[in-house]
Amino acid sequence: VFVMKLLVILLFLGLLSGCRGNSSYSLTPQLLLVSFDGFRADYLQNYDFPHLQNFIKEGVLVEHVTNVFITKTFPNHYSIVTGLYEESHGIVANSMYDEVTKKHFSETNDKDPFWWDGAVPIWVTNQLQENRSSAAAMWPGTDVPIHNTTPSYFMNYSSSVPFEERLNNVTEWLSSSNPPVTFATLYWEEPDASGHRYGPEDKGNMSRVLKEIDGLVGDLVQRLKVLGLWENLNVIITSDHGMTQCSENRLIHLDSCLDHSNYTVIDLTPVAAILPKINVTEVYDKLKHCSPHMTVYLKEEIPDRFHYQHNDRIQPIILVADEGWTIVLNKSSLKLGDHGYDNSLPTMHPFLAAHGPAFRRGYKQSTMNTVDIYPMMCHILGLKPHPNNGTFSHTKCLLVDQWCINLPEVIGIVVSALLLLTLLTGLMIFMQNRTPASRPFSRLQLQEDDDDPLIG
Ligand SMILES: [Zn+2]
Repeated sequence: VFVMKLLVILLFLGLLSGCRGNSSYSLTPQLLLVSFDGFRADYLQNYDFPHLQNFIKEGVLVEHVTNVFITKTFPNHYSIVTGLYEESHGIVANSMYDEVTKKHFSETNDKDPFWWDGAVPIWVTNQLQENRSSAAAMWPGTDVPIHNTTPSYFMNYSSSVPFEERLNNVTEWLSSSNPPVTFATLYWEEPDASGHRYGPEDKGNMSRVLKEIDGLVGDLVQRLKVLGLWENLNVIITSDHGMTQCSENRLIHLDSCLDHSNYTVIDLTPVAAILPKINVTEVYDKLKHCSPHMTVYLKEEIPDRFHYQHNDRIQPIILVADEGWTIVLNKSSLKLGDHGYDNSLPTMHPFLAAHGPAFRRGYKQSTMNTVDIYPMMCHILGLKPHPNNGTFSHTKCLLVDQWCINLPEVIGIVVSALLLLTLLTGLMIFMQNRTPASRPFSRLQLQEDDDDPLIG
């Protein structure tokens, strides 16, 4: 009877949560994906963000997001929207060269779909759904016809367009388009630009810049409230990478190791992509002992954890500088802050915050991966994800419609339950052993009882 009752209660709870799920998703879900370029995870702990903290208080926060190697802008932005490592989506650097076609790619020469067609970004998948459209107030790749498709609404990339204009465009598209815009992006160049210029350890300048960014988050929330979008729109605020301090005292001079005529530098720092003009091993041997602050890899020996090997656009030799070190050629200039380093370094990690009907309220978790964002977004929008490197279960605790089973928590509960049980049993034995001492005549009878509860 008890089991039957339990089943009925469970069934009832299931129905109840099912109904709740349906009512909060009665409208087609909408998602706005925002990136503040170069927003290092620990800025959130070390600076004041009143607006962003309010946003987090009513939503979720992932303190550290492990991004993909190399920790550069274009590669990581494409991993966010495809769920793929760089070797799989093909945007393996901000500067690339394809030997077969002799094509070059750079931040200012990125419009050829050839570079992007190795993956299908979420705005394209969303757009192929009936009665849905996508919009982009900038994001790497959104002004390129990937698989012959651009978002229905997009802006050609220009760093000089103010945030206000991007915000006005994207919120207008989200609120009044037909078919409705269900997925949109918003991109902003800061705090990356200032991080490069001043270095992240310049507290004075960085606190000024980060205060401005917090103001922009305030503007975003305010605008969404005015337009009546705030309660129904899902908003993710994240970034592509962090930033670390560099110095003129930490330079690696490539020219001092090898004559420049022996190789072509496709990308320079902090991960150099080297295309040898002479024998690969010869170039490799000379670079191998160039600096103790740089690791030299033949393409075949790049560690598996980087997931950075199986693509023709990855050059035969790559050089990875240690954190804070800069690879230079004779004429190159130094930035005071940089990124691109090993993606296991905490300084390279961004954060992720989210708010809206799909997300829990007031929930924090310590980590997830950049590639996990894509399957989560597909789930929210009800899209079938393309094959990807992400793990949906890493994001289950962020979502209201998912059972959140956290393994360490479960282990904790089981262990404390066992401890409590042991304690209670011990206490019972102790009490029962005590009683006979004061009642010597009932001792025999009590000892018989004594075994029963333990065996039972
Ligand atoms: Zn960036």
